[in-house]
Amino acid sequence: MKYVDEFRDPEKAKTLAREIRALVSRIERAKQRPLQIMEVCGGHTHTIFRYGIQQLLPDAVEFVHGPGCPVCVLPMGRVDDCVALAERPEVIFTTFGDAMRVPGSKKSLLKAKADGADVRMVYSPLDALKIAQLNPQREVIFFGLGFETTMPSTAMTVLQAHARKVTNFSLFCNHITIIPTVKAILDSPDLHLDGFLGPGHVSMVIGTRPYDFIARHYRKPITVAGFEPLDVLQSMWMVLKQIADGRCEVENQYGRIVPEDGNAQALSAVTRVFETREFFEWRGLGSIDHSGVRMREAFAGFDAERKFAVPNVKIADPKACQCGEVLKGVIKPHQCKVFGTACTPESPLGSLMVSSEGACAAYYNYGRIDTSRIDERREARQAAVQGGACPGAGSRADVVGVSAVRGGP
Ligand code: SF4
Repeated sequence: MKYVDEFRDPEKAKTLAREIRALVSRIERAKQRPLQIMEVCGGHTHTIFRYGIQQLLPDAVEFVHGPGCPVCVLPMGRVDDCVALAERPEVIFTTFGDAMRVPGSKKSLLKAKADGADVRMVYSPLDALKIAQLNPQREVIFFGLGFETTMPSTAMTVLQAHARKVTNFSLFCNHITIIPTVKAILDSPDLHLDGFLGPGHVSMVIGTRPYDFIARHYRKPITVAGFEPLDVLQSMWMVLKQIADGRCEVENQYGRIVPEDGNAQALSAVTRVFETREFFEWRGLGSIDHSGVRMREAFAGFDAERKFAVPNVKIADPKACQCGEVLKGVIKPHQCKVFGTACTPESPLGSLMVSSEGACAAYYNYGRIDTSRIDERREARQAAVQGGACPGAGSRADVVGVSAVRGGP
């Protein structure tokens, strides 16, 4: 397929892998410890595991999986808020599919739907607006979720609802912003990153200039990367080349999609509808200043948080859940105590196991895990639960690790 196959050429991938090995052999730092390069975006995590890119790289280069999967960083309390809204009898709650499976403290949206709530999966916020227009006697809420990538389409939909004078449509806004998040990661004492693969989709909207502080202030190289295997390999080569040359710059490997100044029309819609929150709570990362947006006063009538009573309760993650440590790159997914046992894509305990872009789901789906051993442990866990142990609280059976047969980190 044109524009896809040329970015998946195995011979070019092998050449790039050879070039990367040659480059790494020139980097002194790589002889002391592995170079840690964070891929911020969950889309990159998915590509890395799907195509076995980590296995193509020398041991002296390590990917650290960042927090760029919006479903993965949604705190449990916000899922509970969604369920509370969805269970109101007058409400049709609309959402993207993967958000339906994120566990709340009592249930997910999928379980709420099974229990009778009117939860509907949509492919775009405009679908939700259409449902509102077709059901004037009901209140239709759209679950707005994601980074700057999805923010413009939500903003455009609110502007459309306003222009069409639709009064039974509102937005439960959980949109988050990338720059404060990357800054929080850079300020974290747990991490010693050597460089970044920058998020391609977000950058399509915001451009590459907002990353200047990473190179100038924090002295880390960053390359905005595309999502095909050759994109990721070439971007890794570009970051390593900067390290080898002693440079710290913002480079753009994804120039075929990402303009330096971003998308002015999309940014204008976002600025008209949203304003920055003082802080926003992230799963596993805690509260990050200015890392989320809410709706401006002018659009208060479309704001579900103002229109309905939202419990807004802060809920701690289950004790056994180590999503925060994985999100910060402190541990690898397979090192979580419940990986592949109490937490699987079919029955996720943590949010990183829900979306295909979540690091744990990527490890599970593509990390070549020994499933027979997982089944053994699942049975042991069920026996432990039946025997009175609390599910998700790290039963003895859960604590036993799962071994990667081949590949993996
Ligand atoms: S295995 Fe599950 S609980 Fe553990 S870090 Fe991954 S998603 Fe979170």
